[in-house]
Amino acid sequence: MSEDKIRVRFAPSPTGYLHIGGLRTALYNYLFARKNNGVFVLRIEDTDRSRYVEGAVKNLIETLKWVGLDYDEGPEVGGEYGPYFQSQRLELYNNYSKELIEKGHAYYAFDTPERLRQLREEQQKKKLQPKYDKRDLNLSKEEIQKKLNAGEPYVIRLNVPPSEKVIVEDVIRGTVEFNTAIIDDQILIKSDGFPTYHMANVVDDHLMGITHVIRGEEWLPSTPKHVLLYKYLGWETPVFAHLPLLLNPDRTKLSKRQGDVAVEDYRAKGYLKEALINFVALLGWNAGDDKEFYLLEELIEKFELKQVHKAGAVFNIDKLNWLNGEHIRYKSPEVLLQMFKQEYENSEYAHLNFSDEHLLKIVKAMQERVTFISELITNCRYFYEAPNEYDPAVIRKRWKPDTPKHLTELINKFKKLENPTKEDYEHALRSTSERLGIGAGKLIHPVRLAVSGVGRGPGVFNLLEIVGQEEVIKRIQTALEKIKLEETLNNN
Ligand code: GLU
Repeated sequence: MSEDKIRVRFAPSPTGYLHIGGLRTALYNYLFARKNNGVFVLRIEDTDRSRYVEGAVKNLIETLKWVGLDYDEGPEVGGEYGPYFQSQRLELYNNYSKELIEKGHAYYAFDTPERLRQLREEQQKKKLQPKYDKRDLNLSKEEIQKKLNAGEPYVIRLNVPPSEKVIVEDVIRGTVEFNTAIIDDQILIKSDGFPTYHMANVVDDHLMGITHVIRGEEWLPSTPKHVLLYKYLGWETPVFAHLPLLLNPDRTKLSKRQGDVAVEDYRAKGYLKEALINFVALLGWNAGDDKEFYLLEELIEKFELKQVHKAGAVFNIDKLNWLNGEHIRYKSPEVLLQMFKQEYENSEYAHLNFSDEHLLKIVKAMQERVTFISELITNCRYFYEAPNEYDPAVIRKRWKPDTPKHLTELINKFKKLENPTKEDYEHALRSTSERLGIGAGKLIHPVRLAVSGVGRGPGVFNLLEIVGQEEVIKRIQTALEKIKLEETLNNN
């Protein structure tokens, strides 16, 4: 491995589902790694035992696999920097915290929860920022040993200097300055012996050779603590890139209350992974032009970390829907058929046992007109069953007094056809209209209404071919009876 190989990581805390923001972080890391021939690591940050969720890791990995963001190192695939679960690396964090203690950059603190509560209350009364008061910073070695021997509970805290400038260089945000005066003596090791996020994150990013830390903006305030840790441990800091916040359309932080935030929910609703990836890629980045449709390979080619925006990115569901339709159209009908078949086989029309050939015709007729694959059924039920009502607005507009006479002629013509294709239907219809001396539209619109119940849809001759000769004739006859009846009722 060459020294300067780019290594990035996605480091989720398994909470049970993959948040859309998490997918964006994973994707940007992935794109950056793939574009630069780097390594993409998955590391599971599972040191918060109180947030442990059974099955969360499995679900996370499964979701990453589904969207196609394959990682080079991590759970299941392994790698030379493992283990990739922080809960299996506790000794490392403890050892480095001891090193920090020896250097005077961290210390044992033996406060009871009660004392911390009092401290907080006093500070609140005085309108001071709640901060640990470093009470135990100057305990002697002997005092500490005595307390440890007695089994007193303790945490290990970072000894943050009282007033020092900490500079964070960020690829996206530029130079960001912090003063340590506002930084609390962060707990590094908790009383249960587990590290906090900060400690484990820094140790692992260093030990795993991470060169670029690409993560959400919510972690920016933590970064000065990390920079101090790198410094005190004598390590080089990685390059930081903090990605813009994701916002609801009303510009509040993206939240469950205003819509789904779990990638799994979008998957269940029938969004294509290609559309989700495309959509999420545009949440904070574009190539500087107005191109919006992207395949993963194109994103790898075009993505630049430097082009990521600072401003919050608004989650626009209409755009996601539009992209879903676009990705449906981009697929070949044959590929779409394979995806559609599962949907069909679980639908209420499975018993019709439509052949692949027949389903493919439906796909071809509708591909341009749907946003979701499920709409190959729900938007065109007329392919599966006869309409039981007719759009009254279309009747009013298209069903004229001599329509029944014209359609009767047409039925006679249709009856004579043998295994008609759509061209045969077209020919039959046009010759009928010529013979009747009327425009073809005088037949096309009523036929569509009779066969589908509505005024819009795929090309009418496609419609007829897919519905099939016998059924077409039957439906026209039914419409002739029913629409006449409706008119009579309406007129009385
Ligand atoms: N475990 C953190 C999270 O859940 C990782 C943050 C980071 O990338 O440093 O997002």
